[in-house]
Amino acid sequence: MPAIPPSETIGIVGAGTMGAGIAQLAAAAGHQVLLFDAVDGAAEQARDRIGADLDMLVARGKMTAQTVSDIVARIQTPGDLPALAQAALVIEAIVEDLETKRGLFGRLEAVVPESCILATNTSSISVTAIANSSLRPDRIVGMHFFNPAPIMKLVEVVSGLATSPKVAETVFATAEAWGKIPVYARSTPGFIVNRVARPFYAEALRLCEEGVADPVTIDALLTEGGGFRMGPFALMDLIGHDVNFSVTRSVFDAYFQDPRFRPSLLQQELVNAGWLGRKTGRGFYNYAEVAVAPFPTTEHASQSAPLPGFSLEDGYAGDDLVIVETDGTTTAETARRLGKPVIVHDLMVPGVTRRLGFACSSEVPAEMAGRFAASLAAEGIAATRLPDWPGLVLMRTLAMLANEAFEAILTGVASEDAIDAAMRHGVNYPRGPAEWARDVGLEIIVSVLDRIHRMTGDPRYRVSLGLRQAAEGG
Ligand code: NAD
Repeated sequence: MPAIPPSETIGIVGAGTMGAGIAQLAAAAGHQVLLFDAVDGAAEQARDRIGADLDMLVARGKMTAQTVSDIVARIQTPGDLPALAQAALVIEAIVEDLETKRGLFGRLEAVVPESCILATNTSSISVTAIANSSLRPDRIVGMHFFNPAPIMKLVEVVSGLATSPKVAETVFATAEAWGKIPVYARSTPGFIVNRVARPFYAEALRLCEEGVADPVTIDALLTEGGGFRMGPFALMDLIGHDVNFSVTRSVFDAYFQDPRFRPSLLQQELVNAGWLGRKTGRGFYNYAEVAVAPFPTTEHASQSAPLPGFSLEDGYAGDDLVIVETDGTTTAETARRLGKPVIVHDLMVPGVTRRLGFACSSEVPAEMAGRFAASLAAEGIAATRLPDWPGLVLMRTLAMLANEAFEAILTGVASEDAIDAAMRHGVNYPRGPAEWARDVGLEIIVSVLDRIHRMTGDPRYRVSLGLRQAAEGG
């Protein structure tokens, strides 16, 4: 289906953070926009904010003053909902409440023409449920933008049970015409991003609870080690623990308490303490002006000579020591199998890794750990010694992200490409989890999860049938 042409009017209901951003986008794409909010003056204020934000781009030479005034002039703020009658597409970005959204769509249905598409920007409510009391549930669709809407590329186009494929296709093409990267998703809790991203937070919290490393070290192993733009603890502090914890809880409940989504007691304590992150000055990190930034744990390499013959690609296999990348097997088990001391290191991402976690079997002398750190230092990589933990940090995180991605693929939530694109453009992951896991080797990802599952007995680590089948080439 073709995109809605710029000659058509777009209605936006709710002029808060998201509504204002979407109004800006639609107006910048050339549409006349009708922006309505239940609170008097809110839509006008939103339009003023849009103008002020765009003026900053003019000041930086990124947009002309004429373009800004054209965009702002295309946004009108009618005083009542029936004025949206001429819209070809209405996107709601009002309060996140099922009954309120149903009520709004009911009132819109009474005024808009048959052909008008009704889209919801909901993050967490079932699109099927929103459409339930509608006379025409086939034209109700999710159009899930990310914050800030003018900047974040991803739009999840979410179909409920009754959504017409033509409606989803039109919204998809329209998002593309607005410069976005749309992906199709089936209406299921968390859609793609808010579901597949859960292990990024959950595994970090669990590793911290298990005493494997502190927040700053785990953050460093994921950012410097895996190329994630922000570590999970810094990101949760930014999002706010109240918000992040409540999203986790709602996804957990929506999946009928599937242990894969189990919330963290550690995070709950932060919420209990009111340590909500940056906005309260304290979360996992302290944002007070006097606070000293913590450092990740780093193995000293200064006095030691590098190991002769060690290479990042091939590891090391001497008479006295073997160095391998983790496949989830502990160093103790690997050392028993090989009959030699072993160092197991975390997932190494060529060209990206600047910090690598590693663990030593009990027979590895301290001096050898130092020599391993010196070998890495010679390649510009810092080393972090970790306890003997299955899958270490980056590999365990990737394995759990990939497991969730393959489970979503298996259950028809979205395609593999859509999930990878969603995670890259919705939460800025350096790579899509499925593509990344394929590169590492799906059999290794399965092995990591199977080992953690066996050692912990925790059903959260059970391997998705979708991942196991993909690993077997199915
Ligand atoms: P917000 O509180 O900033 O804005 C909501 C606006 O809707 C307010 O101006 C409010 O006056 C108005 N409103 C409330 N009920 C209304 C009604 N019945 N009719 C007309 N206007 C009404 O909220 P937000 O952060 O922009 O979120 C809006 C929606 O977008 C929610 O469904 C939310 O889940 C979703 N969402 C939010 C984000 C985010 O990061 N903030 C990201 C993606 C999706």
